[in-house]
Amino acid sequence: MQNILELKNIGYSYHSLHGETKALENISFGVREGEFVAIVGPSGCGKSTLLSIIAGLLTPEQGTILVNNPDGSLSYPRVGYMLQRDHLFEWRSVYRNVTLGLELHHLLTPERLKTVDRLLVEYGLDKFRDKRPSELSGGMKQRAALIRTLALEPQLLLLDEPFSALDYQTRLMVSDDICRLIRAAGKTMIIITHDLSEAISLADRIIVLSGRPAVVKTEMPIKLTLTDDSPLAARNAPEFQNLFNRLWEDLTHED
Ligand code: ADP
Ligand code: MG
Repeated sequence: MQNILELKNIGYSYHSLHGETKALENISFGVREGEFVAIVGPSGCGKSTLLSIIAGLLTPEQGTILVNNPDGSLSYPRVGYMLQRDHLFEWRSVYRNVTLGLELHHLLTPERLKTVDRLLVEYGLDKFRDKRPSELSGGMKQRAALIRTLALEPQLLLLDEPFSALDYQTRLMVSDDICRLIRAAGKTMIIITHDLSEAISLADRIIVLSGRPAVVKTEMPIKLTLTDDSPLAARNAPEFQNLFNRLWEDLTHED
């Protein structure tokens, strides 16, 4: 299938009074529609910078991003961004949190609100719509954050270490859950994670970045022999350990 997004030789540096920090160098890769791509790399290598560039929040200094929408249109895919913390506001009810994106974008239309209502029911949050975020479990908060993101009907979801604030057990369940819902919604996803097991269990392809300035070290397609295609079950796939070891080697090997 054709790439809907293609990064070509992306480079980026931060400039300050103390000089220049080169964050990204010559980054090229493509993303196909409906694909889940995981990006791993050492801490501080430039992963968040790369995601901000894909989100259109930063302009690359070098390189270009090409767009190939399946319908032939040239518009940049609508992007939804989910961050490390769920960023729900305690002074707003769950309902007023999940509709916040629509409110900020002046999109509180009956049609969009119907989508929100449907997602609240589907994700089991309907009974909690008048509660405060602190009354929700970690997993429910992430579901609420996902509804807020999906309400804007993004084509491409960008997740920057979205589960790292959760404890290990919750994290396993929530990452499985959220990624299943994103698959079911038919979205394309790019996720940054420092958890190699998580990357293998969620992604169709993993991109390994080097230390700063980040370059693409390897791209690893993930094909697992599975009877049950949930991310949790993926951890028991016969190929899992071997992929983990290869990924670990790629990540830690210095050229
Ligand atoms: P990662 O997400 O992989 O941990 P980042 O993309 O956040 O890495 O940062 C890459 C490098 O750029 C780091 O060395 C970081 O200190 C630096 N950096 C990030 N944001 C800024 C900024 N706004 N100004 C200056 N340097 C920055
Ligand atoms: Mg980061």
